[in-house]
Formats: sequence, C-alpha cells, structure tokens
Amino acid sequence: MYLRTQTRKIKIGNITVGGSSKIIVQSMTKTDTRDIPSTIKQINKLEKLGCEIIRVSVPDIISVRNLKKIKKNISIPLVADIHFDYRIALEAIQQQVDKIRINPGNIKNENHLRTIVEACKSAKIPIRIGLNSGSLPQKNLPYNEIPEYMVKTAIKFIKMFESWNFFDTVISMKSTDVMSTVLSYEMLAKKVDYPLHLGITEAGPYPEGTIKSSVGLGILLYKGIGDTIRVSLTSSPEQEVIVAYQILNSLNLRNVSYEIISCPTCSRCKFNLIEIVQKLQKELQKYFSNKKIKKTIKIAVMGCVVNGPGEASHSDIGIAGGKNTGLLFIKGKPIKKVLPKNWIKEIMLYIKSMTEKY
Ligand code: SF4
Repeated sequence: MYLRTQTRKIKIGNITVGGSSKIIVQSMTKTDTRDIPSTIKQINKLEKLGCEIIRVSVPDIISVRNLKKIKKNISIPLVADIHFDYRIALEAIQQQVDKIRINPGNIKNENHLRTIVEACKSAKIPIRIGLNSGSLPQKNLPYNEIPEYMVKTAIKFIKMFESWNFFDTVISMKSTDVMSTVLSYEMLAKKVDYPLHLGITEAGPYPEGTIKSSVGLGILLYKGIGDTIRVSLTSSPEQEVIVAYQILNSLNLRNVSYEIISCPTCSRCKFNLIEIVQKLQKELQKYFSNKKIKKTIKIAVMGCVVNGPGEASHSDIGIAGGKNTGLLFIKGKPIKKVLPKNWIKEIMLYIKSMTEKY
C-alpha cells in the first residue's frame, strides 16, 4: 500500500511542498538568465505544461539583478540557483525570489553561509540544501560510498541551519547513479522530516535520462519518499515537465491529460497499428497542448481481440482490432465497428465531446 512519508510543510511562494500536499513538479530554465524576455517566455511555456516551481541559474551579478523583473512576469514561484558566491545569494534574497538553492559545501566560509541563512530567515525565504554527487566535499568517492557520505553531509548542514534557528529547508541529494540516489534518500527519509526534492542529476539525454529518472524516482515515490520532483534531461525543459508528470501519473500520484494504452502488435494484428498510434499521439499532443484536464482520459488502441476488449473496458475510449475493422468501446460498452483508417478521427471526436464536460 502506498504510504507517504510525512514531512513538514514548507511554503515556496504560493505553493506548499511537503506534508500531505500533492507532489510538486518543477523544472529549470535553459536560457541565459541575463536574457529576460527569453527566460520569461520559457517559464510561461513550462507553466502551461504544468510546471509548478521554476528554478533559474544565477551565475553572476547581471543575472541576479534580473530576478525581480522575471518574477513580476511569471505566476509560479521562482527559485534562484546559486553556487560559490554568497553575495549573489544575498542579492537574490533582495530581489524577493521565492526560494534559493545552494550547495552549502561550495560556500566555503561558514560566516558567509550563516549570513545567507539569516537573510533568508528574516525575508521568510526557504532554502534548498542541494547536494550533488559531483560536488561533494570529498572527491572521487566510489558510488557505493556516496549514500552514507551524502547523508552525513546533509545532516551536518541541516544541524548547522537548525543551530541558526532555520527550519524552512528542503533537501536534495542527487547522484548520477540511480542506486546511490535511491539509497541516499531512503537513509535520509528515516532521519529527518524535511521535505525532499527528488532527482537523478545529469541523467543524460532522452530517452536514457528518462529511463534513469523513471527508475530512480519511481522506486522512491513508490516507497512514499519525495515531495517534489525535477527530471533533469539534456533535452528541452518541456520534455522534463512532460516526463515528470508521466512518472507521477504511472504511480497514480498526479494526473496527465491522456494516457494511451496500446499493444506492441504481433502477427495477429492485421493493420499498421504502430503508425496509427504515432499519428494519434501527435493529434492528442496538439489537442491537449492548451487544455488543462482534471482527470486522465485513458485511450486503449489494441491490435486484436486477445486483449483488446479487456483493455478497452478499463478505458474511457477503446478500439479493439479485428479482421480489417475494429470495435469501438466507450466506457467499456461496445458502440460500433470502425475501419482502421477512421480510428483517429473517431477517437478524437469522442475525446472532444468528453473534454467539453471537464
Ligand atoms: Fe498481438 Fe493482439 Fe496482443 Fe496486440 S493485442 S500484441 S495484436 S495478441
């Protein structure tokens, strides 16, 4: 049975992370933060896809001074990602970002770190302690030693923050290795009640990064661990958001607009099901690109009667292939026979009529 690990609630702008709140999807821009229009445009596009928190990289003083303007033109909470220079973090707080992400290990001077924490406390801005396997204080650790070291490091910083009376903390401990990421989060979840931000870092391009993220995040989420996720891909940020929702939807934790259930085909299939499904996928992407749906619409497209009627009966719309034709099901009820060349048109017609009600 799915049982969510109970964590404390942290407010990031108008979004609550942790406790029993929904698992939040976030992403990061890939634009140059000095380029305000492109950054705003990308964020607004991501928001339309369901991104709920956005992080921007803030490598220099020009970027940090843009944050207020960027924030004014977006509706989701803005997180500043800062490394090395505590003055940039202080300026980001001045710019009223909704959260800052730091890796405390690369802000070498403890007084500087304390200055950031105290500034966040007085501005009521939460901090993510974001540890990464590639930038741990101890270098070249083998993957099997990373979890223990990562957890020890996270606890050290958590205790440091707590000694400064700061508790608005989210933690991440990302590794490029799935197993060490899973073990790190599992260990930490038993020790602290801070919300956990999950991710596999530098997961790679599509589809490899998608698979690593799905396996790693899937295991943790199934165990009830994780309050917010970011899928990190060497690909468009749009892809990151889409994949994040697919992962959550596959565990029934969030919904997506639609889900295609289709068979792999075999010699029983008497028409080009792969081509039909690819075309249908494009149509659905186009149709749902500007639509927000509260409930996932399940569409089954099956090659023959072996599993076709069964899958169709669990779906909102289903077609089970037969000899040169297919039987259309709506909410499990057989409706009519449809020729394969008309399947997409019929499915889209029913989807349009169903989504008008939502
Ligand atoms: Fe083959 Fe039919 Fe199964 Fe599709 S549903 S894989 S066509 S047996």
